[in-house]
Amino acid sequence: MRIVLLGAPGSGKGTQAQRLMKDKDICHISTGDMLRSAVDEGTSFGLKAKKVMESGKLVSDDLMIGLISERLSLKDTLNGFILDGFPRTTKQAKDLKELLQQMRIPLDSALLMDIDFEILMKRLVGRRTCSKTGKLLNIYFSSKEELDACKNLGGELLKRKDDNEEIIRNRLKVYRDQTEPLVDFYKSENKLKVINAEGSMDEVYQSLLATI
Ligand code: AMP
Repeated sequence: MRIVLLGAPGSGKGTQAQRLMKDKDICHISTGDMLRSAVDEGTSFGLKAKKVMESGKLVSDDLMIGLISERLSLKDTLNGFILDGFPRTTKQAKDLKELLQQMRIPLDSALLMDIDFEILMKRLVGRRTCSKTGKLLNIYFSSKEELDACKNLGGELLKRKDDNEEIIRNRLKVYRDQTEPLVDFYKSENKLKVINAEGSMDEVYQSLLATI
């Protein structure tokens, strides 16, 4: 099974990909995770990527295609893979198509996790972590009891640095401008499948399984 997972930041791609990886024993390849590791390791590639990532913009297509072609050449992808966060531009999608043709491993489908933009904004802007328990909460979606429980334990609701509203708006704009055109690209390739990503994690996963 070889799948591209498409969807805006916050649509839940990473979570669903992790589950699918375990259930189907295939690789989960997240370019965001690969870049964050390079940043943590302080490689020269990581240093280049860091500034771009912090601004919410995209790392260059050439760097990304190099990274993914190296990753796909590893043996652990033989059983299949889920690409999460790649491709993100039409150039990356076309280069990926060419690469997979050369490797003689065609893509099965591109799965779009469809979600309303207002819900996305609330998911990302409202995200908090309890400083006491580490529990992930959301000021819009968590119950009052859950939010109060953190405060009652003497904890604070902390916001992640990259959950800054301006950066989030920028990331969503970059998605709309550069990544959304891939929906039409994969439609024209007859690979596109759409799932509703607005339900609970379990509901979304069940419709994902039913679709692939
Ligand atoms: P993600 O965790 O997938 O949201 O990725 C975090 C950041 O890494 C993005 O905002 C981009 O700056 C960068 N990034 C990840 N994947 C790509 C890609 N395929 N092309 C360009 N930049 C990427």
